[in-house]
Amino acid sequence: MTATDKPNLAGLSLEKLRTLFVDAGEKPFRAEQVMKWIHQRGVVDIDLMTDISKDLREKLKLSTQISLPEILQDYKSDDGSHKWIVKVASGSNVEMVFIPESGRGTLCISSQAGCSLDCSFCATGKQGFNSNLTVAEIIGQLWWANSKLGCFSGEMERRVSNVVMMGMGEPLLNFDNVMDALNIIMEDCAYGLSKRKVTISTSGVVPAIDRLKDYTDASLAISLHAPNDELRSQIMPINKKYPIAELMRSVKGYMASLSDKRVPVIEYTMIAGVNDHRQHARDLAVLLRELPCKINLIPFNPFSLSDYRRPSDSSISNFRQILQKAGYTVTVRTTRADDIGAACGQLVGDVEDQTRRSSRYKQRATEGKAGGKSFNSTDNLAIAADRV
Ligand code: SAH
Ligand code: SF4
Repeated sequence: MTATDKPNLAGLSLEKLRTLFVDAGEKPFRAEQVMKWIHQRGVVDIDLMTDISKDLREKLKLSTQISLPEILQDYKSDDGSHKWIVKVASGSNVEMVFIPESGRGTLCISSQAGCSLDCSFCATGKQGFNSNLTVAEIIGQLWWANSKLGCFSGEMERRVSNVVMMGMGEPLLNFDNVMDALNIIMEDCAYGLSKRKVTISTSGVVPAIDRLKDYTDASLAISLHAPNDELRSQIMPINKKYPIAELMRSVKGYMASLSDKRVPVIEYTMIAGVNDHRQHARDLAVLLRELPCKINLIPFNPFSLSDYRRPSDSSISNFRQILQKAGYTVTVRTTRADDIGAACGQLVGDVEDQTRRSSRYKQRATEGKAGGKSFNSTDNLAIAADRV
């Protein structure tokens, strides 16, 4: 067996770890022990797992591995936020961001290197798609954040209390790996975060939302960004496949399946002159009447290769007021940490595109259509911090 064929203990859910031990003729509770070592104590050297017999440790060393992605760079903002560049096995780099706030610390993690969905306002989408992250690469982001923040050593700078899947990629297009990672994030003998503190953000992959209830009860955020199909299809190509009415039906179904009362967050990236008119707010208020929800307005964060602009503060405030008067709870994401250049949903990393999309955008840029701009992972992107 080569190193890469061996099961990676860092990326196995509790159920899969138990199966591994039972299949090897061992007791299933070994799974809890190994999970605690890796995910609660940060130990990735099997020799140090002292409550496991020496014989079993030798067996594990021969037949399994513990492998996590590499951290290439670590940026810290003056306001305490962090951005880490993570190298994944496919050769791409992805980004994750930690945002400390009073009373909570939110980690925004990536699920794919790049994204195939090409929303017109998103830097990740413009890079094309390279690969799905493995479970270990997804959970490895939380492991590294805990490690870098001193949570394993007891010298804790801050704690990760919330995880949002709002980094690079569409989580529901990497369904199986994301489900296993969520399972580890929420597992008591691993990170033990509650379902209310773990959020999947999706652009609306309807068949996957329909399946979600059989795998998780994590919280849901929906990237809506437009109150009607015509506009949504213009800025989010996925809407042509799964239009708004189908999306609403599917989201309602998931929310109804949860055992507690929770509402989805509707994310609405506001782009000047595109979807920020008062009438859009009125239409949105009508559209969402059937779906109890909270609304999160995200002022567009500019990046190179996009000519979109962020709306004025007064447009944002008018939009918000219309929705509030219609009875909705509305938050506006605040901008922080632009000194380290990071924003969930517009992270760029360094993706080896497998589609031809990034080269097409670059070509257009050199032809002057985007002012000769190029991708740059240290773009002065602003952190969208006011998390769900
Ligand atoms: N693919 C998922 C999760 C990643 S994107 C999704 O689309 O939901 C996370 C959030 O950032 C989404 O709501 C997305 O619309 C938003 N976003 C993307 N680009 C942005 C930009 N340039 N400015 C502000 N928000 C952006
Ligand atoms: Fe992909 Fe989400 Fe960006 Fe759209 S907004 S391109 S779905 S990462």
